[in-house]
Amino acid sequence: MIPNIIPGVRRLPEPSRVDRALRALERASLRRTPQRLAIVRAFVDDPSHPTAQMIFDRLRDEMPTMSFATVYNTLASLEQAGACRTLRLDGPAGDGGVRFDPNVDPHDHAVCDRCGAVADVPAPARKEPLPRVEGFRVHAVERILRGACTRCAPG
Ligand SMILES: [Zn+2]
Ligand SMILES: [Zn+2]
Repeated sequence: MIPNIIPGVRRLPEPSRVDRALRALERASLRRTPQRLAIVRAFVDDPSHPTAQMIFDRLRDEMPTMSFATVYNTLASLEQAGACRTLRLDGPAGDGGVRFDPNVDPHDHAVCDRCGAVADVPAPARKEPLPRVEGFRVHAVERILRGACTRCAPG
């Protein structure tokens, strides 16, 4: 279990997120199945930025016939439909460091270098214009704050 490393910023659960995610899957021509519903329910209010493997492990007892590919493809379809984002991180997370994030609002991330825990950090209001990069169109600036979570470095 990944700890929520910044207790003050835990998001309030939004029941509508499940519906929004299921509609996104339907737009991607993925039928509502018990397995996909379980994946969506396990994921949409999870602030820990789980990997597909973490969601798979969590649902294995409940859905013994579900394949890892179903979990990964469902999460990937949610991302393509704009219902979640991915964060690619090096470190102990596994899955090539791909973490899935149900929070699509702009925000920064705090990442523990020791255990790989990831937490949302509200993005400060940025008044300065987006940086200009030659040959590249910038549409957002996101920061990754690196350090140690309270479990890895208590006090
Ligand atoms: Zn940690
Ligand atoms: Zn996030």
